[in-house]
Amino acid sequence: MGQARDDNTPPTVQRVGVIGGGQLAWMMGPGAKSLGLELVIQTPDPEDPAVAIAQHTILAPITDVDATAVLASQCDVITFENEFIDCAGLQPLVKQGTMFRPGLELMALVLDKLHQRQFFQQMGLPNPRYVFLDGGEAPEVLLAKAETVGFPLVMKTRRLGYDGYGTFVVADRSQLTAAWQTSGRAPVLLEEFVPFKQELAIVVARSVSGELALYPAVETQQVNQICRRVVAPAPVSPAVMDRMATLARTLVNGLDLVGVMAIECFLTEDDQVLINEIAPRTHNSGHYSLDACVTSQFEQQLRAISDRPLGPTDLTCDQAVMVNLLGLDASDATHQERLANLKAIPQAQVYWYGKSPRPGRKLGHVTQCLRADADSARVAATIERLWYGAET
Ligand code: ADP
Repeated sequence: MGQARDDNTPPTVQRVGVIGGGQLAWMMGPGAKSLGLELVIQTPDPEDPAVAIAQHTILAPITDVDATAVLASQCDVITFENEFIDCAGLQPLVKQGTMFRPGLELMALVLDKLHQRQFFQQMGLPNPRYVFLDGGEAPEVLLAKAETVGFPLVMKTRRLGYDGYGTFVVADRSQLTAAWQTSGRAPVLLEEFVPFKQELAIVVARSVSGELALYPAVETQQVNQICRRVVAPAPVSPAVMDRMATLARTLVNGLDLVGVMAIECFLTEDDQVLINEIAPRTHNSGHYSLDACVTSQFEQQLRAISDRPLGPTDLTCDQAVMVNLLGLDASDATHQERLANLKAIPQAQVYWYGKSPRPGRKLGHVTQCLRADADSARVAATIERLWYGAET
């Protein structure tokens, strides 16, 4: 990936600070190299994947504002691979001249799923019906609000939910009450259950000057609320592809994004596109771009935040599938054996993040580029059988 390009504009940004050192930061490595950028990472654990590709690492939690002040003193711009930051705490750094891309206002908006939904509504963009709780209400209030949405419904903790953690599909009042009590009566959204026919996502980049680069919309398939596989491009009508692209443009312009954003959507039986959520960073649904697009989403993020021209987003193959490798248990041996089998697939690109295994943890992914006549579902099923076993 990342062939060298003649950029014309003299780049001023040379050192990029990244808050978060997981696999998303790790996969920025090759893009940074081809753009001649240095990465300085703020992450708590020396074992985190991105430590291996960073010029320098500040070992501190991502919410450690003092550590970010040090990061700022070493970098020209700071970006994010994890949105669970302390936005209010970082604000004084902006006054001192630190450049955060995306900006902190946008980062603050996405931290709360309610604020995301309110923004979509303000923009006139369709999203599922919902009500919200601020947390700590009496159980009767919870149930009265739930009745206005109807069952089944989806309860989501408003903050710090990811990979399906904090998302519960509940069938009735007693399940809802139990789930909410377990959450510690947290602030939540109660959302209509959308009987979608497909889930779609799109990654889009926007530069400082407002230049846009859209990747093709993809289909994502979830198992137990966590992304299992991605098919690119999404097997949907051109009209739906256009709607995804229009949505992406409207959203990132409205948010004044600088960087990369993923937008996750539901496609209903009658071809309505409803926005589920947005992530102001690179995303699982764009991992295929490392192997199947001219410019990966990771290089694109670096281009956008470092004032470089955005790269082309075209597919370099007819289609691609990406399968997530989720942890099966806590044993290294279980995973290494399966990994070896995946590496034996001739056309598969296997990414292994080197994280300690835990059930459900994202440990790696596999991408396979395909010709137009290939059966992507079969290819994905083969990969999944090798990893997850017979009952996938
Ligand atoms: P997270 O932020 O943890 O990824 P999401 O809101 O993306 O949570 O939900 C995870 C998955 O749960 C979605 O991809 C989808 O499969 C399912 N889901 C979420 N909201 C709804 C909904 N309103 N109706 C039906 N399924 C939903």
